[in-house]
Amino acid sequence: MNRRGFLKLAATGAVGASIVELESCKSPQGNAAGKNAAPDRVEIASTCDMCLNKCSLIAVVEKGVVKKLNPNPLNPKSRGMLCARGNAGIQQLHDPARIKRPMIRTGERGEGRWKSVSWDEALDYTAQKLAAVKDKYGPEGTLWSSSEGFQEEFFRNLSQAFGSPNTVRHPTLCLASVNLAYSLTYGTVPGFDVQNARYIIMSGANRLESFITPDTMALVDATTARKAKLVYLDPRFTKTASKADEWFPIRPGTDAAFILAMLNVIISENRYNKDFVSTYCYGFEQLAEHVKQYSPDWAAEETQIPAKDIQHIAREFADAAPRAIYYAGRRSSWSTDDFAMRRAQAILNAIVGSWDRLGGMVPAAKIELGELLYLPWDDPKASRVDELDKNFPLAAKNDGVYLKLRENVLAGKPYPIKAWMVYKQDPVNGIPEQEKTLQMLRQMDFVAVIDVQMSDTAWYADVILPESTYLERLDPIEMQAGIRPVVLLRQPVVKPLHDTKPCLEIVQGLAKRLGLSDYFDYTMEKWVAEQAKTLPMELPLEYLKKHGVYSPPEFPKYGMTLTHDHRFITKSGKIDLYSERLKDAGYDPLPVYHAPSKIPDGQFRVVLGRHAFYTHANNTNYPWLNSFSPENTLWLHPKPAHTLGISSGDTVEVASSVGVIKLKATVTPKIRPDCVFLQHGFGKRSSWQRLATSGGSDAEILETAWDKVSGGAAMHETMVKVRRV
Ligand code: SF4
Repeated sequence: MNRRGFLKLAATGAVGASIVELESCKSPQGNAAGKNAAPDRVEIASTCDMCLNKCSLIAVVEKGVVKKLNPNPLNPKSRGMLCARGNAGIQQLHDPARIKRPMIRTGERGEGRWKSVSWDEALDYTAQKLAAVKDKYGPEGTLWSSSEGFQEEFFRNLSQAFGSPNTVRHPTLCLASVNLAYSLTYGTVPGFDVQNARYIIMSGANRLESFITPDTMALVDATTARKAKLVYLDPRFTKTASKADEWFPIRPGTDAAFILAMLNVIISENRYNKDFVSTYCYGFEQLAEHVKQYSPDWAAEETQIPAKDIQHIAREFADAAPRAIYYAGRRSSWSTDDFAMRRAQAILNAIVGSWDRLGGMVPAAKIELGELLYLPWDDPKASRVDELDKNFPLAAKNDGVYLKLRENVLAGKPYPIKAWMVYKQDPVNGIPEQEKTLQMLRQMDFVAVIDVQMSDTAWYADVILPESTYLERLDPIEMQAGIRPVVLLRQPVVKPLHDTKPCLEIVQGLAKRLGLSDYFDYTMEKWVAEQAKTLPMELPLEYLKKHGVYSPPEFPKYGMTLTHDHRFITKSGKIDLYSERLKDAGYDPLPVYHAPSKIPDGQFRVVLGRHAFYTHANNTNYPWLNSFSPENTLWLHPKPAHTLGISSGDTVEVASSVGVIKLKATVTPKIRPDCVFLQHGFGKRSSWQRLATSGGSDAEILETAWDKVSGGAAMHETMVKVRRV
């Protein structure tokens, strides 16, 4: 189907969605997903898995074939929305390049030669290899890496039952610095009430071009109706910038200076919320003293944003509070001081009292789910290979720190890692300094990948264990905490089209062969039934099967923590403006500004971004989506482009200290002259991802650098030379 046909189909889906909405409004107890279904046509409510946002969908299935995925308007988070990627979920199901059966490598790693095998053969082979590594190096000689997914828990449980301490998840390639900064300040990671805010500041949180979250829709509402003022800081003029009231092409790595100067203005002009600060915050006096050094004039030099603008934004922000938010966003770390910037944001929101109030930050509410009891395992005997206690004492233990872990594995310290199990993750294309990831793969005795598609990491595996797609499997029920918490069911809408299995069955197959069956003695159906038991309705599982989603009507709720006896889960029991916990761990208790490294003459700083059609490095090979953006290009400002003799469409070579890529140039004034930008997810090595092999992979040129406190990969620390070829 061509792009035009796809858009037409999406438009038809939107009409269909509004009919479903009307029907469900008339009869809330009725089956919104199947009222007039013909016998050979069913509509099944389920949950999208094309990104992490988990929107609710309704699959239209005719004679066992998925014809269309429509949005399910009963989910108050995704509302009546299923984005382009969500619509293209059908292409994941029918992808000709899907991994259709288990495979064992026959050629060299990365050569792309495989033989199809039975599940017994693949699982026997994997279990034997794992057992061999365990015999020689202990269970800690195995590494288990995974990304977020409804079945990820089973994969992690297998690693722990096996006895390995070395699980590593995606947060240090994602939100680790945000999560840690807010947890240390408030004891929790809050939601942002974008829908009701009247003043929003975003530092590079390119909400309109990344995942379509409820915040994206709220931002569209708020800015379209001009209910909220949006101030946007980004070295690029993004689509979010195009909707902003004010856009500042800030010098990358200086956002903390901007925020600290805002704190300076708000405190020195007595514009902070004194009642809120004295009742709920700890360490205001130290903060006030600390930010005296960060004047707007000083910040103007650092950020290249005029001092008068910093002042007016600070004043407007304080005046609009509590319906004013400095939005944290869903971004990876940018610099080695990213944590300090996130802490400064969290503190700024606190001192104007934008906490637990309409239009401010709101603690994420939860809904309790039942839990199936299973046999517990002993804690691993060895300590983690990334030595978190020593290197990142405050980082989340089970998530690990990816880049530090890779350094230690490459050095064989403190012990060797010889087997790597990967679930739903693509470290080869997703992590800076690809050559090091490839080296890490080369030194493994064994690599197995569980995935639905031939990722770049699968391309280098010894065994591929194909997972069924989200449209073919029953997943654990998922609770999504937030301002409006929801409970979601993902159920199969068709039977598996190929010889694939859900993750739990793959885990159970391995557990059986490794003598660990007792820990996984349950079925998915049992697991799900136990989870549903706590929901407040008769026949909760039937309810979820029918509607796909449950959302308690009493939310959003504001002010639940605004009582005098409320204790925040922080060291002081209040909102920690000054953090004793950070101090105890050897870090600055208040955010301290460190200027970013200088860009050498003739070089550029690389800035990264995502695209609303793609989820990280995924989805770039699905034709419906790829047709919108078939390759990535290097954005370059006209001034340096002129000096270098580069025009749009020219092929350029981009060289950093760790790698070289070639891709086409786009010459555009929508970027600072000292930066270049490229989109993530292209330049793939796996030739099964034919459409995504074009362009260049940022993983090849990005250097290894991490945020000092959270360990999050610092994505904007790389300088490159560019030349026309
Ligand atoms: S934002 Fe799009 S891809 Fe992500 S869950 Fe929602 S519909 Fe699916």
